[in-house]
Amino acid sequence: MRCRPDLVLDRVTELTPKKLQALGVRGLLLDLDNTLLPPTEEGPLPEEVRTWARALEEAGIRLALVTNAKPRRVRRVAAALGVPGAGPVAKPLPFGFLWGLRVLGLGRDEALAVGDQVFTDLLGARLAGLRFALVRPLAKDALPHTRWLRRLERRCLEAGGSMKAQPSEEGRA
Ligand SMILES: [Mg+2]
Repeated sequence: MRCRPDLVLDRVTELTPKKLQALGVRGLLLDLDNTLLPPTEEGPLPEEVRTWARALEEAGIRLALVTNAKPRRVRRVAAALGVPGAGPVAKPLPFGFLWGLRVLGLGRDEALAVGDQVFTDLLGARLAGLRFALVRPLAKDALPHTRWLRRLERRCLEAGGSMKAQPSEEGRA
């Protein structure tokens, strides 16, 4: 498995309709915590995110939440965005992503998975055969084990970067 994302972003809102259309992407399978909303925040979703989601839908790009968050949180954010959502889906197992493809009526090559974590989001997306965009997490990690995981993620990304696999479109320097 390649540990290297296809895209690296500071914010999910960098995925504009124009950019996605150029990549042949017709739908996003979105992580929730630290991708759309900091994990400690109950919401509402930032106006920036809601405006972004509306612009994508208007451009015919469909969205679904595929997340490990708790059901009540998933339902609330999915309803706020007016999109389907499933969770918790036990990423890195690929089944949540496969559900997302089915519910949006998309083939693997038409979708882009988006998330902030290598060992759940990226790994799950690859197991489902999907392209993947890594987003910088919205919140700093408070828990020691998460900080440790983030260090491992960085090492994995650095190793992936030196493998001369498919070059990332927008690699973080
Ligand atoms: Mg996340």
